[in-house]
This record gives sequence, C-alpha cells and structure tokens, in this order.
Amino acid sequence: MKNLIIRVLSILLIFSTTISQPAVSQSFSAGTFVPRKNIRENINLDNLASDQTYKNSFKEVLKNINSGYQPTIRSLVSPTVDKKRQKRFEKSLYEAAKLWSPYFKPENVTIVYIGPKDSKWADEVVKTEKLESMLYAPISELLKGDGKCNFALAGKPNGNYTIITCLETDELKQLQDGPHEYTHFFQYSNNSIPDYAPCWITEGMAHFYGEAIGYSKSDKNRREGFKMYKSQTINFDIQSNKNRNKRTLPKLMIKNSVEVTKNLYQGMESPGAGGKASGCYVLGGMAFEVLVSKYGHQKVVEFMLKFNNSKDWKNNFKSTFGLDVTDFYSKMTPYIAFMGKKIM
Ligand SMILES: [Zn+2]
Repeated sequence: MKNLIIRVLSILLIFSTTISQPAVSQSFSAGTFVPRKNIRENINLDNLASDQTYKNSFKEVLKNINSGYQPTIRSLVSPTVDKKRQKRFEKSLYEAAKLWSPYFKPENVTIVYIGPKDSKWADEVVKTEKLESMLYAPISELLKGDGKCNFALAGKPNGNYTIITCLETDELKQLQDGPHEYTHFFQYSNNSIPDYAPCWITEGMAHFYGEAIGYSKSDKNRREGFKMYKSQTINFDIQSNKNRNKRTLPKLMIKNSVEVTKNLYQGMESPGAGGKASGCYVLGGMAFEVLVSKYGHQKVVEFMLKFNNSKDWKNNFKSTFGLDVTDFYSKMTPYIAFMGKKIM
C-alpha cells in the first residue's frame, strides 16, 4: 500500500497530440515592424545556463492556462481552518485544473483541510473516509512533530482523487501546494504514478508546475523559488537515503561535470513519488524548467500521456524529445552548474 502513497512535505516541500506552431508576434519599434521571436526559440540545449531558461518555462506554463474549467470539489473542513488560507489554496489549485483540463477532468475530488489543532477531527475523518492508504503516519503525529503543520498529500484512495492539507502560514510558497498536488492527480490519470515514472519526473514535474502556476508571477527575482530549492538539497542520494550537508549538492552541481550530473540523475531513476530523496524535487524541477522552456508545455503533455500505452519511460522520452535521456542529462550540465551557484 505504501506505493499508493504520494506524500509531500511542503516545508521541503491529456488527448491532443497536435503541437501548435509557435506564433510569431510583432511589436513596433521606431515606426517599423520588428518580429519578436517566440520565447521557445531563444532556448536551445547549448545555451541553457541563463535565467532566461526558467523565466521562459514559467511564461510558457502561464500562457497555457486558458480554459474556463472548474472541477467540482467536496471540501471537508476542520473547525479551526483559516478560511483565507483555504481560499488561497483553492484558487491556485483551480489554475492547475484549468491547465490540465484539456487532458484530465476528474470526477470526485475531495480536499480535506485541517487546522493545526484539529488532529482528533482529522483522525476521525481519515477513518470514516478510508484515507489510511494516503498516510505514512496518523494525522495526530503529523501535526505534532516540530509543532508545524505544513503539509499537503495527494492520493487516489478508493479511486477518489484526494488531497489532505494543513496550511499553517501565509507564505508565498504555500501557493504551490494546490497546483503541486493537482499535478500528481494528472500523473495518476496517465498511470505514470505510482509505479512507473522516476522520482525526478514525478516530483520534479509537480514541483515545477507548483511553482510556475502557484507563485512564479509574484516571486520577484525568484527569491522564494530558490529558497525552496535550497531547503530541498539535504537528501539527493536515494541509495544511501542519508541526509547530507545542505551545501553538498550545490557543490556537486557547480563542478559543471557531465559525469557528475549524469550520476546525480541516474541516482534518482527509481520510480515513485514523495518521501524519497528531496533532490528529486530540486534536480527534477530544473529538468522540467529545461524541458518546458526548450520543447514547450504541449511536448511535456505528449510525453506524460505516453505512460498510458507504454511504461518504458526512457523510450517514451526519446520518442518525444528526440534524444536519449542520458544525453539530456549531459546537456543540462551547464544549467545545473548555473543553478548550483544560485542555491549555494
Ligand atoms: Zn509531490
């Protein structure tokens, strides 16, 4: 059952195969037309090491939020939940629902909102709603710990798309929780989780879309985004599954070595999500910045939908993006080094 669990600690925390041609927009300059290139054309696999890469990827995502879809949600709300936080969570989740709606319109979405003092209520709801398979520990334990309650978990217990969340603060980064978890719903719908996609894809993708949809527009100089990456550098080696000094991963990243980059990603190829190495979020998130920036959102969709028909993710990657995933890792090396400096 553990495989069925998608868990996210937020403190660390499709059938259209038509690829639209990039539209070339034009702008006036000194009385003449100056064609402005589509944002995607500026990025190629040999010039990734720049802020433009992630900036373009965020723009690309926001551009694709253009449907009026809104899922029907059943909310279970504990007595002390901050209503404002609940509204914020819903609002950013709805944006993710719009983005994925051409490919995924779920029935039966349940969101359980828990206030930090409502563990008894939460334990009861887990029992009556049969949500045990989503949890690695009873809610009462999740709420104790360090006195914080920041978490959001997504799962599909009994076939129902479900999120359990406790929102303790008003921080900007919390706006990523809804889109992050909803992106996991989309992954469930194409069968990439729980068993087939490597963690850098599962969590990297959720992390990337969480940030892009949730708060990238309001995050000046990407302050919050880099802070979040920094907090997730503690564990990147699934095999040893040991926490490391936070600077170890950035130090490896800035080596700008193809071999080191390949090893880092190959160390995160085991399938699954949540509860694995936090490096899956960091390095996976950066990989999706590159994929979306270079190939566009629709290509990523095309890739994920292939899980419906084939579990061979490496082959799916190659047939979608036109290169071996190992070569992709190599090509990302300068970007990884560039980003390593940002999160030292
Ligand atoms: Zn996740």
